[in-house]
Amino acid sequence: MDCVFCRIARKEIPSTLLHDDPDVVAFEDIHPRAKVHVLVVPKRHLATANELGAGDEPLAGRLLVVASEIAKRRRIDSDGYRLIVNCNRHGGQEVLHLHLHLLGGEPLGAMISKRPV
Ligand code: 5GP
Ligand code: ZN
Repeated sequence: MDCVFCRIARKEIPSTLLHDDPDVVAFEDIHPRAKVHVLVVPKRHLATANELGAGDEPLAGRLLVVASEIAKRRRIDSDGYRLIVNCNRHGGQEVLHLHLHLLGGEPLGAMISKRPV
């Protein structure tokens, strides 16, 4: 698959790799939005969260467990952090390969901006 995250997972594009197992990689986001901004990515190409189906529970759970492990390693676990999965246009997804954002290292503010009244 000629997709940027597939290519990072195959090590064809360099990244600051933080985790690598048979199913999941994690690496630093190239344009960090917080002091800690890590992407946790399944090696299998799934375009969006919509592609998750029956049988993918272990993979979906693995993404969360890897994020939690990295949060502890980066010592942001007790102060806290945010996990985000953007999906498609309304979610603001830019890279069409499923990924979990791990954000922290500083207060992150409101989860989403308030709707105008
Ligand atoms: P999305 O908006 O799809 O949820 O997030 C995509 C994220 O991927 C963005 O935060 C963006 O900075 C990051 N990104 C895009 N291309 C690359 C890349 O080539 N390398 C790395 N490390 N991150 C990337
Ligand atoms: Zn891909």
